[in-house]
Amino acid sequence: MASNDNNKFQAVIAHAKEYGFVFPSSEIYDGLSAVYDYGPWGSELKKNIRDYWWKNMTQMHENIVGIDAAIFMHPTTWKASGHVDNFSDPMIDNRDSKKRYRVDHLIEGYAETLPTAEASALLTQMDQLLAVEDFSGIKQLISDNKIKCGVSGTANWTDVRQFNLMFSTQLGSVAEESDTIYLRPETAQGIFVNFLNVQKSARMKIPFGIAQVGKAFRNEIVARQFIFRMREFEQMEMQFFCRPGTELEWYEYWKQERLNWHLSLGFDKSKYRFHDHVKLAHYANAAVDIEFEFPFGFKEVEGIHSRTDYDLRRHQEFSGKKLQYFDPEINKNYIPFVVETSIGLDRTCLVVLSESYTEEIIPKENGTKDTRVVMKIPPKIAPIKLAILPLLKKDGLPEIGRDIMKVCREEFYCFYEEKDAIGKRYRRMDAIGTPFCITIDHQTKEDETVTIRYRDSMEQERIPMARVKEIVKEKIK
Ligand code: ATP
Repeated sequence: MASNDNNKFQAVIAHAKEYGFVFPSSEIYDGLSAVYDYGPWGSELKKNIRDYWWKNMTQMHENIVGIDAAIFMHPTTWKASGHVDNFSDPMIDNRDSKKRYRVDHLIEGYAETLPTAEASALLTQMDQLLAVEDFSGIKQLISDNKIKCGVSGTANWTDVRQFNLMFSTQLGSVAEESDTIYLRPETAQGIFVNFLNVQKSARMKIPFGIAQVGKAFRNEIVARQFIFRMREFEQMEMQFFCRPGTELEWYEYWKQERLNWHLSLGFDKSKYRFHDHVKLAHYANAAVDIEFEFPFGFKEVEGIHSRTDYDLRRHQEFSGKKLQYFDPEINKNYIPFVVETSIGLDRTCLVVLSESYTEEIIPKENGTKDTRVVMKIPPKIAPIKLAILPLLKKDGLPEIGRDIMKVCREEFYCFYEEKDAIGKRYRRMDAIGTPFCITIDHQTKEDETVTIRYRDSMEQERIPMARVKEIVKEKIK
């Protein structure tokens, strides 16, 4: 990461905390690594993104319905899904610092310090070794390159071991009788096990999808980069069930459809790219990531996977219950194939926070310069849409402001404030990304107009007071 990008990223993290977007979890106890809490404006932003996704996926697609499955599931779920046996990453510990690393992250970190050609040769070697799970080869690669621990500065490494990323806990009160259960590491399995319940109760016909938003938990080893990689996070997933043989067409469809959704947020197209998976998971016959250019480089925000009939087939096998669909059009029973779209809600929040954060220098009339930090959050997902700011705390101006507030708050999130100089209030609204402010002044009493100020351009114009709601609604669209 170039140092100015790193500076920008650090500035985004500091801003997110100072202005009520994201706090470290239980901060008074020094926080909990890779766990975060959303503050007043962060939780609004997150809810707006969640709602925008949900509406797009369910309300706007006649053949997709939602569910809300529990976080705890029968433990066999995770045997069938392959998570008990396979959901692990190769790790290595430094004996001196006791720090544990994911080997790919350790090697990638080292590769970043090398010239491009050497780095890519090293990464190719690493990929080849990981593909055949040659862990002693990986350890050799680490020693040959004299890769050191960033904390202890030594190369005193343990062997490479597999480490399962699922959190486990006990169900039941008496330890001897209790069952080990897992906190779900993805929401998808709640959809697969409910496939028939949903299909029958909502009378769905293939092709159809099931959408879900919810928490997932992974004991991530290298948990840095703020809300990019968390131990508790939220996913927005959709599993699309289709006739075997049609899955690659649907895969192409969803690939484009999901990219369009990202673009509809309003950020520049050049910030997104597809990254096709070369090495496919054993159950997939096509997979792609939608990557976004964060301040620390292009990274995955969403995965689109053609998962064949792997999941339903495995659940059928492990549960002994038929998970099939009778297709009246071809008069056949089959296990449907699945195309999955899986996006991280927190990562999408990070897309919005890092891309909206802007530091601006504003020339002033007297020749000096002013600076402002403005969050250019797309209006449709901005936490607060409209700030209502009477210029003075007297002469009936607050009462007019309150009346406008009453009319508008039913429609969108409004914020009322009468304290401090107007310039200061504008800056505070800029800092939390409020796209529109209106001020009420003495002229309002004469001609029933108010001044609307636009966050990004800082332009101002007078509009009729009676039209505030309608104008803001129109602009949010
Ligand atoms: P990565 O390679 O970055 O670990 P992944 O390929 O394991 O991600 P998936 O299992 O495909 O991720 O999960 C789907 C989506 O869930 C990801 O695209 C990402 O947006 C989100 N996600 C996964 N792990 C985390 C995490 N630890 N913190 C925040 N979001 C996550």
